[in-house]
Amino acid sequence: MSNIAVIGGGAVGITVAKLFQDRLKNAKVTVLADKYTEDTTSYVAAGICKPGTSFKGPTKEITKKWLTDSWQYWQDILKTPDAEKIGVVTLGAYIFSKENYHVTRNYLIEDLVPIYRPVTDEELKLAPQGTKYGSYFSTMQIECGRYLPWMGNIIVERGGQLINRKVENFASLSNYDLVFNCAGLGAKYLCNDYDLVPIRGQVIKVRAPWVKSAFYGDTDTYIIPGQNGVVTLGGCRGYDSYNLNYNKYDAASIMERCCEFLLDLKDAEVLGHRVGLRPHRRPIRVEPELVDGVKVVHCYGHGGDGIMSAPGTAIDAVEKGLDFLRSNVKNKL
Ligand SMILES: Cc1cc2nc3c(=O)[nH]c(=O)nc-3n(C[C@H](O)[C@H](O)[C@H](O)COP(=O)(O)OP(=O)(O)OC[C@H]3O[C@@H](n4cnc5c(N)ncnc54)[C@H](O)[C@@H]3O)c2cc1C
Repeated sequence: MSNIAVIGGGAVGITVAKLFQDRLKNAKVTVLADKYTEDTTSYVAAGICKPGTSFKGPTKEITKKWLTDSWQYWQDILKTPDAEKIGVVTLGAYIFSKENYHVTRNYLIEDLVPIYRPVTDEELKLAPQGTKYGSYFSTMQIECGRYLPWMGNIIVERGGQLINRKVENFASLSNYDLVFNCAGLGAKYLCNDYDLVPIRGQVIKVRAPWVKSAFYGDTDTYIIPGQNGVVTLGGCRGYDSYNLNYNKYDAASIMERCCEFLLDLKDAEVLGHRVGLRPHRRPIRVEPELVDGVKVVHCYGHGGDGIMSAPGTAIDAVEKGLDFLRSNVKNKL
């Protein structure tokens, strides 16, 4: 029986662990993470399936495959009767811009999603005054507060383990046949990877069950309805910022910008504020490496797109892991 470790209990690690069990039924899979569900970056995310246009794998073909496989994975869950319980729902979304037509386009998903079209004149009135451009598309939203525990339960039911442990280095995992490194920003320290940079984000969670569609505007403004009437208001991007503290100026700016879209949001009950550090790396790293004699497959650096793209990259990582496990590699790849 193969003994497999997955470092990371966020969307990427949990998805890799479950997909590895799918592929190698008799493997013993252990997830090692110092934070789970509510304490991960994945939990902060609004979870919309809309990759940023700079989303990037090592080649255009791989980028496309990751996104297509991811979309299919979420669609497959959506078709099950448990979809809502698992945290996957459909969502319509608008992107508006006062300044730039290109902001409203997303060539990465335009031929992936069922609908991606320019807005009508009537729909343009939904945006703040002076808005010139807009697109509408249909997509999905994933609630990690539901998805992560659901996946975790399956992993454990199948004989896997979720252990609370901080991994200091790969050498300490030499008792495993294969290790997946899905540590998000933690990979920066495990791999001394200076290409991995935090991009700080802050959001406000409000109760606003009347919001049924997502809205994106200029200046990184977004309104994304989630489940149970909870809506995520954002946002901001602090490049190379490690600050996990709530910032009242960011919160005020987010609220003001979102109210430009939907004035009623000013009366919505504020449920809380969340801050997270997006693990940004271009390209996202999915590759095998022999480190101190330990077979490691890295899968990290998903930036602001790691919920949406976790499955596609996980499928790739799992296949690379299976090849690596069966190989006799003893030297650096
Ligand atoms: C404000 C905001 C909004 C976002 N919105 C979206 C969105 O709408 N759609 C989308 O797709 N993405 C979104 N994202 C991005 C998304 O949250 C990330 O890309 C995703 O969470 C990355 O997942 P991950 O599993 O790699 O990392 P994480 O969720 O950070 O998980 C990393 C895991 O590794 C563990 N770990 C790290 N180092 C170690 C170590 N040394 N030992 C043991 N364990 C370790 C941690 O404890 C944790 O369990 C958003 C992010 C932010 C901040």
